[in-house]
Amino acid sequence: MPDQHPNHPRRQFLKIGGLGLATLFLADKTLAQKSAAQAGAAKLEMTKETDPQATALGYKEDAAKVDVKKWPKRGGAEGSKQFCYNCQFYQSKSDKPASVPAAPCTLFANKGVTAKGWCNGWVQNPTVKG
Ligand code: SF4
Repeated sequence: MPDQHPNHPRRQFLKIGGLGLATLFLADKTLAQKSAAQAGAAKLEMTKETDPQATALGYKEDAAKVDVKKWPKRGGAEGSKQFCYNCQFYQSKSDKPASVPAAPCTLFANKGVTAKGWCNGWVQNPTVKG
């Protein structure tokens, strides 16, 4: 039985082959996880400023463009701190929601809104400061 020796080439081949398979399995799993994350991000349908509910609530993708005469809640020192990312309806799973460009808004049927956006439905998220 010549292949019983631990350093026999056939045993070495099987060990290396096993490592190769494990590496392939892990690489495949990592790629699958990346694809799932990308698919999840790609699925987020964004709210348009022209959508009827967005118009009714004065939604702007850029809060700086809100007409504060029409929407005084966003005016003044306190109003200028209001953004989607610190609103309780913003569904970011990040602990730094300002760094996430967009997330679903429960007030807009979970369509996406921008972190720097705003609408008149804004309510302070008590867990997000700033
Ligand atoms: S409800 Fe909040 S998160 Fe949704 S659009 Fe208005 S300000 Fe943004």
